[in-house]
Amino acid sequence: MSAQDALVVRADFDQVMVPNYAPAGFIPVRGKGSRVWDQQGREWVDLAGGIAVNSLGHAHPALVKALQEQSEKLWHVSNVFTNEPALQLAKKLINSTFAQRVFFCNSGAEANEAALKLARRVAFERFGGDKYEIISALDSFHGRTFFTVSVAGQPKYSDGFGPKPEGISHVPFNDLAALEAQISDKTCAVILEPVQGESGVLPANKAYIEAVRALCDKYNALLIFDEVQTGVGRTGKLYAHEHFSVTPDILTTAKGIGGGFPLAAMLTTDELAKHFAVGTHGTTFGGNPLACAVGNAVMDIINTPEVLKGVNERGTYLKEKLTELGTKYGIFTQVRGWGLLIGAVLSAEWQGRAREVLQAAEQQDLMILVAGPNVVRFAPSLVIDYADIDEAMQRLDKALAKLLN
Ligand SMILES: *Cc1c(COP(=O)(O)O)cnc(C)c1O
Repeated sequence: MSAQDALVVRADFDQVMVPNYAPAGFIPVRGKGSRVWDQQGREWVDLAGGIAVNSLGHAHPALVKALQEQSEKLWHVSNVFTNEPALQLAKKLINSTFAQRVFFCNSGAEANEAALKLARRVAFERFGGDKYEIISALDSFHGRTFFTVSVAGQPKYSDGFGPKPEGISHVPFNDLAALEAQISDKTCAVILEPVQGESGVLPANKAYIEAVRALCDKYNALLIFDEVQTGVGRTGKLYAHEHFSVTPDILTTAKGIGGGFPLAAMLTTDELAKHFAVGTHGTTFGGNPLACAVGNAVMDIINTPEVLKGVNERGTYLKEKLTELGTKYGIFTQVRGWGLLIGAVLSAEWQGRAREVLQAAEQQDLMILVAGPNVVRFAPSLVIDYADIDEAMQRLDKALAKLLN
């Protein structure tokens, strides 16, 4: 550390950072499991998980080891060369999903950008220039590049940046009739989240997803599942679409797959992958050895029956506790979601006030999330100790008691 690095405080953020975020009033400096410490040594219980990213909590020994070992071998070679961790991780993903091909990148947006570009390319090469329309769900979230944010159905994020890419339309989620009315031979892809994460932890209906698959087949449109938030064990299955009897043509995964290291991937079939011939797409850092070494360790741990079962059990337990608290204070009408992606829906009197709950929790040294204005979201470590869940619920209990007074 240079002398200049020594003293930074939260107030510095407002001086030196682009003001597109409004971080909490403290600076985390260290984490272990589901506990985090700030600069003052104050201890937090973490049910936010870095927004469903820290799938194995903080500083998991196996992840630390993987990163340390790889850090002494090879950091980066670019895609002018391939590397061992990337090939190993690709094989793991192929062996445990529908996919036969993997494209690595660094963020959810980048994985979706690749998926959408691939869908457009496939349609262009198979059917010609008129088949380019993309359908997504209202209130969906697919990232913040201009293409992905335009595809997602939240104008508040995509308006105000000038003309948008063409051929994108939005339909209400879980509404088959709306999709039937919109889809046509011009549709090249339908993109959906199996559980809408950012806009309220809202799961798709099984019958809807099955019918969407059939509609896509009928119109030669590709089905893309954005599993950036729901993937890698988060919902108690390796990928959330395993809850349905439907496989996508393209799947995107990010967040949890790196356990906190930036890593993402687009998965697809041989048939589709071949439309991304040499030179059609790329990214410098994609498949970086450090990221993939960590990804291998994450997959080795999470993709086991014991850990996935543990996610379901912890999810059930956490939901029960949240339901109890919700009833005690009359603040939640419903606690929904799968595995450890959980949303507590605010009651009528609390509409629009999810952020107040988050701030009250923060005052009790508890990290949680919101998913839109009306849902409090929880996305803890998939291997969180039950004692940490209990401690978190005690802190939330205090937070709610204070908030309601
Ligand atoms: C977080 C998220 C993204 C964007 O991922 P980034 O890594 O922030 O680019 C895309 N889709 C879904 C469903 C997400 O939850």
